[in-house]
Amino acid sequence: MTDSASGLICPKCEQPLIANGKQWQCPDRHSYDTAKQGYINLLLANQKKSKNPGDDADMVRARTDFLDTGIYAPISDALNAMVAADGVILDIGCGEGYYTERLQKHLPQASVIG
Ligand SMILES: [Zn+2]
Repeated sequence: MTDSASGLICPKCEQPLIANGKQWQCPDRHSYDTAKQGYINLLLANQKKSKNPGDDADMVRARTDFLDTGIYAPISDALNAMVAADGVILDIGCGEGYYTERLQKHLPQASVIG
């Protein structure tokens, strides 16, 4: 898959999003940042109510540590068993990506985006 064929569209104007370094931009130059964890923040700068909306690094690390205990693995396994697709799957609100990563491993032929 090329970046221009990601299947992602701009939530503001619905034109295709194209990767430009660590940002994704549409032809109208709406721009979305890619976090170091790899997810795309689909909030525009003027929609952010703080400089760092969402979870901070400590919150994400605590959630990852908790999920890595495997206590929610049965839920992830049950969700994965219900999904049968080989196209692009968009996990909206994927958090730190626990379920997204496990779904991608479950469906290696799919392109799972969080
Ligand atoms: Zn746009």
